[in-house]
Amino acid sequence: MTRAAFQALYDAAGRLVAETPALRDFGTWPAIPGFRKRKPTAIPAIQLITARPDPPLCSPAQSAFLAALRVAAPFARWYRSYKRAQVGRDFLDRYGWFELLGPSGHFRSDAARAYVAYWGDGLVYPDHAHAAEEIYYVVAGGADFASDGVPSATLAPGDTRLHGAWQSHAMTTTTSDILTLVLWRGEGLAGKPVLLETAP
Ligand code: ZN
Repeated sequence: MTRAAFQALYDAAGRLVAETPALRDFGTWPAIPGFRKRKPTAIPAIQLITARPDPPLCSPAQSAFLAALRVAAPFARWYRSYKRAQVGRDFLDRYGWFELLGPSGHFRSDAARAYVAYWGDGLVYPDHAHAAEEIYYVVAGGADFASDGVPSATLAPGDTRLHGAWQSHAMTTTTSDILTLVLWRGEGLAGKPVLLETAP
């Protein structure tokens, strides 16, 4: 059951990659990676995700991804990268991510990494950076993206945003939550994002 749920989600993610030129160009999507059982973690955001309806104008591939995610979400190994002192309790209660594909993902790859990541509405994800290159794909909802050295942008479903190695970036959700598929590549694939200190 668990494996079937993740396989459906992986196949739906692969379809999003295949249909989105920016994701397709970002790197190879492994066709049949090995599956491994990971111990699920319960976080409050699971309920927000499983109760979330499809957005208006949802594409068939996005709808398939969301349907598969509603089934798989309670079985995923969710993480939250930060401490309450860094981002606040409300942020931690309405945020989370899991590694669908990667060095420690539900599907195993040492060459590619893909996360499913969620933030509720009205949250500020402060400036952070990481060694790996990254591309966000918005499956549902939207947010304002601000990155060092390039114009800010408001992303909606189907939009993508690229972040270079150690390029500082931040994200703010306003009236909507955001559900994303995030791909990493390059150096530091198994690394973590680092919050950048801001002046008091
Ligand atoms: Zn990032």
